[in-house]
Amino acid sequence: MANEKLLIVEDERAVARGLVYALEAEGYDVTWARTGVEALELARREPPDLITLDLRLPDMSGYDVCRALRSESFRQPVLMLTAKDEELDKVLGLELGADDYVVKPYSLRELTSRIRALLRRAYGDLAAPSEDDVKRIGDLEVDLTRMVVRAGGDEVDLTPIEFRLLRYLSARPDVPVSRSGLMEAVWGYESDVSSDRTVDVHIRHLRQKIERDPANPTRIVTVRGVGYKLQG
Ligand code: CA
Repeated sequence: MANEKLLIVEDERAVARGLVYALEAEGYDVTWARTGVEALELARREPPDLITLDLRLPDMSGYDVCRALRSESFRQPVLMLTAKDEELDKVLGLELGADDYVVKPYSLRELTSRIRALLRRAYGDLAAPSEDDVKRIGDLEVDLTRMVVRAGGDEVDLTPIEFRLLRYLSARPDVPVSRSGLMEAVWGYESDVSSDRTVDVHIRHLRQKIERDPANPTRIVTVRGVGYKLQG
């Protein structure tokens, strides 16, 4: 892949400079937006491969930017930079659809490793050829080559992270997978205290999209004390 394009949305000049400098040193092609409006314009004109989004912007919140992009079917990874851990549920909420978040103050090292992992997971091995290109589990169809998912015949629109989650589960139907196992396989890093919740939130999204009754899931079921499994 050519240099991945990152859009950094951050209103504090000094912070943004540091980020741009560090990420360019990693080989990324970095664009900086200082406001929400500017971020939306840039993302529409030339969609980046990943966006890092500060929650507190002068003209609108990072929530609004993310919501607007997702409503326009922007599916590339969005990494939220949040001030507090409690915002996790909202940040990763179905309505917003961010892929991951980092709590301020973060180290540049942590941030770059999250970015690298998100990019790798979103684009890296999805293009790899597979022996069995379409997995069918019950009335669920996961087309690994075209990245298309159908539930009961209806095509569902998943983010790259959701697709990876489902792909991972569909490769091992009926096998319970732990949250930390999902974290490592799908996000690409070791799980920590907050990552169980990250996994839970994304499973909830996936259920909203593929279950007939998300409150009583029959496709992705919870395995008490373990994690989740895809019902074969
Ligand atoms: Ca800010």
